[in-house]
Amino acid sequence: MTADSPTTRAAPVLVPMPAERAYSYAVPDGMQVVPGSIVRVPLGPREVAGIVWDGPVEAVDPKKLRPIAHVFDCPPVNDEMRRLVDWIAHYTLSPPGMVARMILRAPEAFDPEPWTEGLKRSDGEPDRMTAARARVLEMANDGIAWTRSGLAHAAGVSSTVIDGLRAQGVFETVMIPPRPVVAPPDTSYTSAELTNDQEATAATLRAQVEADKFAVTLIDGVTGSGKTEVYFEAVAAALDKGKQVLILLPEIALTQAFLERFQNRFGTKPAEWHSDLPPRMRERVWRQVAEGGVRVVAGARSALFLPFNNLGLIVVDEEHDPAYKQEDRVFYNARDMAVVRGHIGGFPVVLASATPSVESRVNAEQGKYARSVLSARFAEAALPQLATVDMRRSPPARGGFLSPVLLGKMRETLGRQEQSLLFLNRRGYAPLTLCRVCGHRFGCPVCSAWLVEHRFRGQLVCHHCGHNEKRPEACPECGTFDHLVACGPGVERIAEEVVSHFPDARTIVLSSDMLGGVKRLRLELEAIANGEADIVIGTQLVAKGHNFPNMTLVGVVDADLGLANGDPRAAERTYQLLSQVTGRAGRTGKKSLGLLQTFQPDHPVMRAIVSGDSEAFYDREIAERERSALPPYGRLAGIIVSAATRPEAESHARGLRRAAQVAQDVHVLGPAEAPLALIGGRHRFRLLVQADRKADIQGYIRALLAAGPKLRGSVRVQVDIDPQSFL
Ligand code: ADP
Ligand code: ZN
Repeated sequence: MTADSPTTRAAPVLVPMPAERAYSYAVPDGMQVVPGSIVRVPLGPREVAGIVWDGPVEAVDPKKLRPIAHVFDCPPVNDEMRRLVDWIAHYTLSPPGMVARMILRAPEAFDPEPWTEGLKRSDGEPDRMTAARARVLEMANDGIAWTRSGLAHAAGVSSTVIDGLRAQGVFETVMIPPRPVVAPPDTSYTSAELTNDQEATAATLRAQVEADKFAVTLIDGVTGSGKTEVYFEAVAAALDKGKQVLILLPEIALTQAFLERFQNRFGTKPAEWHSDLPPRMRERVWRQVAEGGVRVVAGARSALFLPFNNLGLIVVDEEHDPAYKQEDRVFYNARDMAVVRGHIGGFPVVLASATPSVESRVNAEQGKYARSVLSARFAEAALPQLATVDMRRSPPARGGFLSPVLLGKMRETLGRQEQSLLFLNRRGYAPLTLCRVCGHRFGCPVCSAWLVEHRFRGQLVCHHCGHNEKRPEACPECGTFDHLVACGPGVERIAEEVVSHFPDARTIVLSSDMLGGVKRLRLELEAIANGEADIVIGTQLVAKGHNFPNMTLVGVVDADLGLANGDPRAAERTYQLLSQVTGRAGRTGKKSLGLLQTFQPDHPVMRAIVSGDSEAFYDREIAERERSALPPYGRLAGIIVSAATRPEAESHARGLRRAAQVAQDVHVLGPAEAPLALIGGRHRFRLLVQADRKADIQGYIRALLAAGPKLRGSVRVQVDIDPQSFL
């Protein structure tokens, strides 16, 4: 890795920029670096953190090399992680520097955590005893190091009492090492009596962990069948082998319940990793993961880039969840990259879901993944009974969105003092506001999207760029007062309708834009689980993972929402979401019901949900994908061209199309104006690359970009391999 010349040693360093390769730096005499060392290097006028990379140093005149400024006292980023970065960069066509940047997200953690000064009882005795002093000595006689304030607090005295004692030599000063962010998990803390099915799956997983080889297992089990319980056994096995474990969850910020389950099993919580973690905590987790003190991390997709040095298992819970796809800078799917990580590291990966992705099902059918089915809910918990409400036959009252059938069931549920959940995947009050006099529609000034009214906040908001404005009294177009109408429902509007029907019920609205953020959401979710609400109205964040024991009715306000967009996964997504939402009902023994309001009760998705015949749905969906050569039978990539003006974007996109080589196994479609033609003031065009399964789609696109027009002006090109979104 380092090239020795008589005078200058040099090393390649990957910096967190859109750099296509590592840059060469001189290693000053006396400095020790190895591949993976985290260093600080000069870059232009600044200094940045980077990672010493592998491979030869480019031939650069040694006199022109700038020296590495500093090597951090930090465990090097290991070989597996470096190979993962290279792999992801190659696969997603991202600059390796931008992938490496995801590892370097906690800069303060590159230096060791400081030790704090503490006190320990010495042989000295105080000149005289007081009641306060006696309490302090009683505490400190355990011989353990205390912090000054900790001891004062524990003894219930002021810090000056401690200082007085210290002055008399009663204490010696000691340094206290950094506290672990979490206690080590205890694999024998408790463990569940597994059912036969569960045990069979657990045994397979334990054997894989024992074998310490790459393998992927899909645990396919209805909600409540004990998937979590089962993969905890794999976690325990990996911990017993001395390994670290990563559990990926789609909405970690909201899964307090998960952390508690883990604690019940292992006697301590796992370390958390997600964007809502306070910065200081992030740094400590990062550092302790690198040093190996943290054994288990439960985290969002970015946890994949934590600097584990001894990883032996990854679990991807709710593996089908679209939240695993990052669509910003580096476009990657954390589920797929977790599998790659396992492959590189040579350890097992567990994917769990009640509604697996079609991709994972096909991988299982083709024998690439093992599949374990858990078909029954644990204990007496029965799956909810499911039915559609045909909105053509039982339409809501004028101006409303809830059918008499659903309202009737809500009334019955209230009567039994049980909880109802109404699900609508739309934040705010109404998705469109228009003027009844002139027809003016309120759109975002910089996106091709309507503004969504948020009545609680009194604002019109763009859900794409965040633009917001006060809801006016008069139409800005024709000036007429009081003639603005809200079209269509969002959760706030459903809440209004619910309150009009059930004024005495305790109603809660839950959506991700709620004031008070994650903290408030957690409290609300806890309150619901404790039965402190009768009716909950929520967006998809209520669909995920929560266990509400008293919830016996789930109503889906608009089950058709999501079926209409031209996305090849529309049916799959809708099926997954609706299954997950209705799965919130009946988590305990009570009889429960899920109702889907739909205008298409005969749609295959609705039929699959109502009949519970998921196999038929998957068979059909898989056959359909195969027929149209869509993933996983064929490969897709999106190329999104954006620019400050429409002509710039369009002409660049057309230029790319013209540069496309004719190939047997790859076709380029488009360009077409993107469905979201304007976002944040940028005009967007899309090309779609469709390829055979075996084709080298990355190589093709790389050649295409190289042959296409030079990037000029405001033009930006983003490649999205395996796109999830076609907007
Ligand atoms: P899933 O992850 O498939 O939704 P969970 O693992 O959350 O299912 O299990 C559902 C509920 O049943 C949980 O409360 C869990 O503690 C309980 N449970 C599942 N299996 C067992 C078991 N073998 N023994 C005791 N409780 C179990
Ligand atoms: Zn906007």
